[in-house]
Amino acid sequence: MTLIRSIILPTFLFKLAVLFPSCDKPEEKAVEIRGIYGHPKPYWDREIKLSELGVNSIFVHSSAINDKMMQQAGSDGLKVFAEFPTLNGKNYVSDHPEAWAIDETGEQVEAASWFMGVCPNDPGFRQYRFEQLRNLLERYDLDGIWMDYVHWHAQFEDPEPILPETCFCDRCLSAFSAFSEIDLPQGSTSGKATWILKNANNSWRTWRCRVIYDWTAAFRSIIKKHDPELLLGLYHCPWNDAEFDSARMRILGLDYELLKQTIDVFSPMVYHGRMGREPEWVQENISWFSNKLGIQQGVFPKVWPIVQAYDDPELISGEEFELVLRGGLSGKSSGVMMFTTNAMAQSDEKTGVMRRLYVDLSK
Ligand SMILES: [Zn+2]
Repeated sequence: MTLIRSIILPTFLFKLAVLFPSCDKPEEKAVEIRGIYGHPKPYWDREIKLSELGVNSIFVHSSAINDKMMQQAGSDGLKVFAEFPTLNGKNYVSDHPEAWAIDETGEQVEAASWFMGVCPNDPGFRQYRFEQLRNLLERYDLDGIWMDYVHWHAQFEDPEPILPETCFCDRCLSAFSAFSEIDLPQGSTSGKATWILKNANNSWRTWRCRVIYDWTAAFRSIIKKHDPELLLGLYHCPWNDAEFDSARMRILGLDYELLKQTIDVFSPMVYHGRMGREPEWVQENISWFSNKLGIQQGVFPKVWPIVQAYDDPELISGEEFELVLRGGLSGKSSGVMMFTTNAMAQSDEKTGVMRRLYVDLSK
């Protein structure tokens, strides 16, 4: 097969799959969300209306939302979802050392490349984040909150992930002991950590997943109390159950069986280039994820993946971007977005790919 055929044929077949999921019964697959991630300013500055690109939704970092943006988005008929950085304690832990995550040696963790996790059980940090969320909801008329950085201290976005054991602070040790009804030995923090990892490993992993789930439950409670129609989304690590020795559950603390009770929409971060994967991996992953969670069209929880558009570590061509964008709409996905708006606006080729697909899917 020539190179051109090898690109065009799968693309063509995939398009049929998106538009006509069953050959017996041709019908359009419901694509609810045609999104971009990042403030639309790079397009607005060029006087490009997002509706002309087929975009109907924007996902924007909560700190980048302002009245002017909301007004413009409203007049353009766009849905607005706020990304909410949840357990990134980068600036918080330096001012609040009591919230610093503790590793198995009893020491404060080092930053995991650019990410600095916080102890998720620190009561001051919890109140700080809940208050930020309430303020955001009061201030703007949003369509949903997308929780980001919802995992224990780690770095999964690099080709070589950083996967430390945390958090063994006194607060976490007590909470674990109470939850699991396991008495911990007396002695040093490192001694307790060693004992847990050797003698209570499964219970430790179960409790850690529960802590992460509790954050999503707390967020759900706050946002649904504010407005039951608001959606709760989750940006999350896309690894399957086995990758990196099951690190998604074991280290990050992401248990889909728990999370599907609280999350309305999952947004797997399928950054193929950044994670050193082939572009075809996106389709494989979203199909796997849809099956894993038993996602059904038109029913919550839904899946709206976020794919990679920015050139890191290598240039992503228009063809490659098209593959991952379509991959993001495979399985039972009913929406997609890409990281980032800025990367899109800098490339007429990628913008053209998005426009063709989004306009097609909006008819
Ligand atoms: Zn802790």
